Amino acid sequence: MKTDLLPEEGRQLLASLPGIVEEETVGLWDAYGRVSAEEIRAEIPCPPFSRSPYDGYAFSSSDTMAASRQSPVRLPVRGEIAAGEAGFRVADGTAVRIMTGAPIPLGADTVVKWENVQMDGEALLFSVPVAAGNIIPAGEDIAVGKPLIQRGDILTSAHVALAAAQGISSLRVYRQPSAVIISTGPELMTPGKLLSAGKIYDSNLYLLAGLLKRQGVIPKNGGITEDRTEKIAERVQDGLRDADIVITTGGVSAGKYDVTAEALVACGGEILFRKLRCRPGGAMLAGQIGGKPVFCFSGNPCAAAVGLLYAGLPYLNKLCGKREILPQQTQMRLQQDVKPCEQTRFLCGRAKIEKGFVLFEETKGKGHGSVSPLLGCTWIAEIPPSRDVIPAGTLVTCYCAG
Ligand code: AMP
Ligand code: MG
Repeated sequence: MKTDLLPEEGRQLLASLPGIVEEETVGLWDAYGRVSAEEIRAEIPCPPFSRSPYDGYAFSSSDTMAASRQSPVRLPVRGEIAAGEAGFRVADGTAVRIMTGAPIPLGADTVVKWENVQMDGEALLFSVPVAAGNIIPAGEDIAVGKPLIQRGDILTSAHVALAAAQGISSLRVYRQPSAVIISTGPELMTPGKLLSAGKIYDSNLYLLAGLLKRQGVIPKNGGITEDRTEKIAERVQDGLRDADIVITTGGVSAGKYDVTAEALVACGGEILFRKLRCRPGGAMLAGQIGGKPVFCFSGNPCAAAVGLLYAGLPYLNKLCGKREILPQQTQMRLQQDVKPCEQTRFLCGRAKIEKGFVLFEETKGKGHGSVSPLLGCTWIAEIPPSRDVIPAGTLVTCYCAG
């Protein structure tokens, strides 16, 4: 077992754990937000045929080459092609009325908008030659062989639309992993009941469940348990039968009732590490039982969220089969001074643009026990250990949290 790891080391250790990524097939309707398990390249061009970009007339430009103001060329309009029709041919010296999206008929290489032509009865009249063009060629949007979906892509509406444009009706995706969340602590009550003296409502279940859902992990409620080794061990074992990963909150510090580590050992588990050198989120431990990981976060809501978002997320993304497993990161300038701290600090906040600079603005609450700093938190700033105040304006690394 390792202890007192740098946050980065803890995150890497978790990200290196094996993740079972099974595949399944879903219809396009259910594919949004899922992770692709296949690479798809275009097999048909899009559009599949040359087509007209607007309502107008199609003809051969060569028929207008002799046109001049003195002797205009007259092309009689013969017929009409609507979108969805095919198999037309334009005879030499004639034009055809064509609608947006209709296939360009054989014999034509030019389209003009209907409002741009001069009519002479049922014929088009040209007093200057018209150059060939205004045709959308087959494959202009998507050529055969173009990569459309990569393995590990999170499927967006554009991916699904590209698959639909290929005539594909279902996609291979990775199965969504599930995580059982167990809340530990005798002070916890389920929302909806009248609060008894000395008790608090279990909000971490909902906090972590929401974060997991957003990442594509299916959260499951593992219930509330007291701080007793055998009770926690029982819940963890139930959780492991029911999910790909078990997450617990509470009972990971060094207090008398902090028995989560003992519970993992009682389940026959191996403790991978205890404690990360960071605040909040440092009181964390991770273990492995029968090849499945167990992440145990502090009961402090903010610490649990930061622990999950910073240390746990890359592994969860891997379990989902995603190509990019690290959260997006960027540099932002601190809006305010940050107090010195011997350990890495993670601050909850948001990005704010001021005078052309992207500033990191803290979403403040008091202490790490509160849920309030998470309200409006879309970025987490990593503040390196320092003996001195870190002044406003300093560039710091920030991780996307929402
Ligand atoms: P612990 O990590 O068990 O020492 O708990 C740290 C703090 O977080 C305590 O004030 C707990 O009451 C609180 N806490 C623990 N579990 C939860 C939870 N599920 N929801 C909200 N607060 C919690
Ligand atoms: Mg506790």
